[in-house]
Amino acid sequence: MDKISKEKRSRNMSAIKAKDTTPELFVRRFLHGYGYRYSLYKNNLPGKPDLYLRKYKAVVFIHGCFWHQHLNCRYAAVPKSNIDFWHPKLRKNVERDKQNLKTLKKMGYCVFTLWECEIRAAQKGSPGKALKRLISWLAKQNAKEN
Ligand SMILES: [Zn+2]
Repeated sequence: MDKISKEKRSRNMSAIKAKDTTPELFVRRFLHGYGYRYSLYKNNLPGKPDLYLRKYKAVVFIHGCFWHQHLNCRYAAVPKSNIDFWHPKLRKNVERDKQNLKTLKKMGYCVFTLWECEIRAAQKGSPGKALKRLISWLAKQNAKEN
């Protein structure tokens, strides 16, 4: 009846109980569970990607929906009272993201963007579409020899 071993279950439980439940940690744990190895915070790369998978020369961004203006996302809504303040600011962020993406691709990196709302949805239940998309995307990337 119970396919998960006791040891594994207690490991899962401690993961759930962990204090820090930021989207970043959730994604990291998820990738780790699939056996992917990554490093964190490539500050020397454009846009400072959240995760870097050396084997695939791939980077992953975990974007906040508001700051990075997730298209058609309810969390990206700009407060109407301060629209003159937020609009140029956010537009600059979006522009910068686009530039970073271009530069990274030119440098030969594969880039994957996860949105915070997708991860939050996933945290509530099953891994969710976004994370499954990430896994199948990674599976399609060819491992690169360095
Ligand atoms: Zn969103």
